[in-house]
Amino acid sequence: MVTCDVCKRNKAVYLRTYSGHRLCPRCLERILARPVKRVIGESGLLRPNSRIALLIRPSNPAFSLAGLRLLSKVESKFNVKIIVIIPSQLEGLDRVSDTLEIAAQRTIIEKIVGKFPVIDGNGLSMIACVRLERAWGLTLARKSGAEALLYPLDRTTSNLLALEALLEGNPEGLSEALPTLPWTKPPTIHYLHRIEAEALVAYAFIDEAWVDSLCSPALPSKIPFLSLMGSRPELEFSSTKTLERLALNLSEKWNKCPYCGGFTRSKGACNYCRSLGVPRLLEDTAK
Ligand SMILES: [Zn+2]
Ligand SMILES: [Zn+2]
Repeated sequence: MVTCDVCKRNKAVYLRTYSGHRLCPRCLERILARPVKRVIGESGLLRPNSRIALLIRPSNPAFSLAGLRLLSKVESKFNVKIIVIIPSQLEGLDRVSDTLEIAAQRTIIEKIVGKFPVIDGNGLSMIACVRLERAWGLTLARKSGAEALLYPLDRTTSNLLALEALLEGNPEGLSEALPTLPWTKPPTIHYLHRIEAEALVAYAFIDEAWVDSLCSPALPSKIPFLSLMGSRPELEFSSTKTLERLALNLSEKWNKCPYCGGFTRSKGACNYCRSLGVPRLLEDTAK
């Protein structure tokens, strides 16, 4: 048996390439909960007894549910109420209700179900998909009176999006490299910002909380990015810092889309929201 490097007791089930640690399920959860706590703490946006909305992403329900479990572990001490936003297309799935139950044992949970505006997600680019989801989540978060929206964007995806934005000569996409968007209403926290996708996949899989995505948006820069990274997670970590700094510099100069909160050159809706028709798509959600 391979023993866990952290507790030195339980059986290790996962080798985290990022740190080289062999981990048991309990230590994996504990270790992943720390960066969630850090990102939320650094945002300075939450107080004890806050009401916060957490979005289950249609394009990545598995990470969203993993995020909900990590958050409920972190927030149980602060008496925060978590309002889980569930796309109606995913409601009633066993894994979704199981995760809600687990989270509810740890902290206070409320749920709202809304119909995610029907759009062929497979034809979308990842960045358009993220912006549509966030705009939808913000609309429902406002409606529920939440003080913040937690959007589950992991470090790997946020790096990929920022790199794609740069490769396409469209730095507007760099807002996705930020851990928080304090200007949205309510403010957005990308609370999985310090966790790599690989660890989230493992966490979701080991706990049998895997749910397939409703759509798979395109990510053309994935191959060049992965070939740059190879198996060196520290490179991924340093790119996160570099991209975050670039994005922070831009955030003072650029306009922000009133729907998704992303950077935009123009006034009003960003190009992504405009070409998807987001203002019209969200009319029903806002009612
Ligand atoms: Zn352990
Ligand atoms: Zn937008």
